[in-house]
Amino acid sequence: MADISAPKGVRDILPDESWKWAYIFRVVQETALNFGYSEVHLPLFEHTELFARGIGDATDVVEKEMYTFLDKGDRSITLRPEATASMVRSYLEHGMGTLPQPVKLWCAGPMFRYERPQKGRYRQFWQVDFESLGSANPLVDVEIIALSVEIFRRLGLHQLEVVLNSVGCPVCRPGYRERLHRFFESRLDDLCDTCKGRLDRNPLRILDCKREGCKAVTEGAPAIYECLCDDCRDHFDAVKKGLHRLAIPYRLDNRLVRGLDYYTKTAYEVLSGSLGAQNAVCGGGRYDNLAEAIGGPHVPGVGFAAGVDRILMVMEQEGCSFGAEPSLDAYGVALDAGSRESVSDLVDHLRRNGVAADMDYGNRSMKTQLKAASQRRARYACIIGEGERQKGTVSVKDLATGEQREILSEDVVAAVRPRPSGDE
Ligand code: AMP
Repeated sequence: MADISAPKGVRDILPDESWKWAYIFRVVQETALNFGYSEVHLPLFEHTELFARGIGDATDVVEKEMYTFLDKGDRSITLRPEATASMVRSYLEHGMGTLPQPVKLWCAGPMFRYERPQKGRYRQFWQVDFESLGSANPLVDVEIIALSVEIFRRLGLHQLEVVLNSVGCPVCRPGYRERLHRFFESRLDDLCDTCKGRLDRNPLRILDCKREGCKAVTEGAPAIYECLCDDCRDHFDAVKKGLHRLAIPYRLDNRLVRGLDYYTKTAYEVLSGSLGAQNAVCGGGRYDNLAEAIGGPHVPGVGFAAGVDRILMVMEQEGCSFGAEPSLDAYGVALDAGSRESVSDLVDHLRRNGVAADMDYGNRSMKTQLKAASQRRARYACIIGEGERQKGTVSVKDLATGEQREILSEDVVAAVRPRPSGDE
């Protein structure tokens, strides 16, 4: 038989899960509105150069993980591995620098990375991505962190930890890189091959290595705090102070450098105690040099991306609520073949009046149809047979209580219409 399975690392989100996704997006959307962020929809692919310049040539994402191909016009195109570079490109392309700053945008959608698939790590995964562009104020960093934490709070996630660091800026990072270089150079034999290669290109990345041997070495590595320039130190202090004021707990971790090159100053992640190795539900930080890196003017920015697949995993694990599971208000049941059209007309009438309704399209027994109604979580069965047709009525059966009454066709909408919540 032909291979009809999806490629490795991608998956279908089926109805038993998709309604939970919809719930997460609703909560994200509401929170975005509360924090003054506007939604944008960005393309799933961009010129490869955008990511090579924006994310950084020497990053894992650009070096190993991008889905890149030539299109029919011989242009190098890449499926987006993340949304920040696209968001900044969009800001620049549409002249958003003339708007009141910061411009606060968010988007949701799939990202693509050629990574080794494992639990919580896919080759196509969903992110919600928030970016605040055009302000260097540390209060905006605080707002971004508070916003991510608030989304998770509303979703009911506990066991979360905010991990915070500063990665400095082009003024102070070179000094830190040098100190790290000296530190790791004398311990080269204890590092993995990948990290040996990182030593000259970007020793900060070694701090991020998950291999036990490298982790042991990095324990004693110099911390960046000692090397921060005055500007970065003041900024870092202001962010920490802001988080204290908003009562958002965090842990400092000088090994948090994040995988992407464009970060300056604030870097943070939100980790979940309910996930295994892939425990980050959200990562973000400041990237004041990204706009310039992709060819634009200086535009400071700060943002985060949260992984929806992982949020869902944590919510399932922690038994969080996803709101009400989708259900039907009414299910049309025909007692004989001659009544099927009347049921079809009734169901259409109900739908047009805001009632969630469906029906059976096979010539099945009443018992089977009622069973289908229950499986679809319908509240009422609307039964029509020859008797009802002659009288212009419908027998409405409450599937929870079993109670049944015969009512005039024109009264069915009122009888089965969902009551506003709180009206029970
Ligand atoms: P990053 O853009 O790497 O900072 O990722 C931000 C968030 O996206 C992470 O914290 C994860 O929740 C999620 N994420 C990143 N890569 C993957 C992946 N391969 N599969 C599933 N989720 C991912």
